[in-house]
Amino acid sequence: MSANETTTSAVVNLQGLSLSYGAQPVLQGLDWQLQPGQVIGLLGRNGAGKTTLLETLLGLREPQAGTVQLFGQNAADLDDTGRARIGYVPQQNDLFEGFTPDQLLSYFKSFYPRWNEAKVEGLMSRWDIARDKPIAKLSGGQQQRLSIIRALAHEPDLLVLDEPVASLDPAGRRDFLRELVEQVLDRGTTVVFSTHILSDLERVAFNVAFLKQGRIALQAPLDELLDEVRVLSGSSAELQALIAAQGMQVLSRSPLEDGRERWLVRFPQGLPAGSGGERVNLEDLFMEMT
Ligand code: ADP
Repeated sequence: MSANETTTSAVVNLQGLSLSYGAQPVLQGLDWQLQPGQVIGLLGRNGAGKTTLLETLLGLREPQAGTVQLFGQNAADLDDTGRARIGYVPQQNDLFEGFTPDQLLSYFKSFYPRWNEAKVEGLMSRWDIARDKPIAKLSGGQQQRLSIIRALAHEPDLLVLDEPVASLDPAGRRDFLRELVEQVLDRGTTVVFSTHILSDLERVAFNVAFLKQGRIALQAPLDELLDEVRVLSGSSAELQALIAAQGMQVLSRSPLEDGRERWLVRFPQGLPAGSGGERVNLEDLFMEMT
């Protein structure tokens, strides 16, 4: 696929996004493409701009510069059919608290041409949500699950979840996320979820994207990254010579006390023989890339 085809077939295509709150820049010339069927964990520290990025991607927040395209259309011009292809679970759930879950779901059902009642029924039982209690009386975790069921019910092609497991206890987070992703995998839904908790990603996100200083600093399949990234140390000149010889990508550099440097590098074409260096784990990557 050429770069151009990759851009035009993208479910989400963000180019040159910049957004500041007053004098505080949050997105700074950010480019990002999500391809059909990708499952992406968006990783960044607290305050890095994950919510801002997801809201901008959905056309809910207007950037000061750049373009946002969803399914090949400008987000601002998206028609009802385009909107019905999106499922969104915001960080603060926006459920009507005076309704019961049953009332809420039948209300939303009336808006969508496509609605998978069997899926809704199955998830309501499996995730143990009382149907007839006012939503305000459900636990935070149950409200979050209900918000997710609402977002899945119309079988979206793009599912955007902002910290979808924030209200769940740590033990249940990853398992729940994995189940959530399994729910949509067979349809080829594109899924992006934000998190600042590393264990959420393991065995859930096939791709990870790191948000740092207003840009996507790195995006790749998680297992590839763990295979391809190494930490090398040496003098700046030695390391420069290695890049030239082995075509590696430098992800970050930091000085060591003895005048040498420590580089985090990636070998996108696979590791050359004898390249050495230490492997990294997801936590190292997070520390360096966010
Ligand atoms: P994250 O989701 O990664 O924690 P956010 O997108 O919520 O990051 O916030 C990014 C930065 O922008 C933070 O410093 C936050 O305080 C600031 N911010 C977020 N929303 C607003 C807003 N509506 N007005 C002003 N500043 C905001």
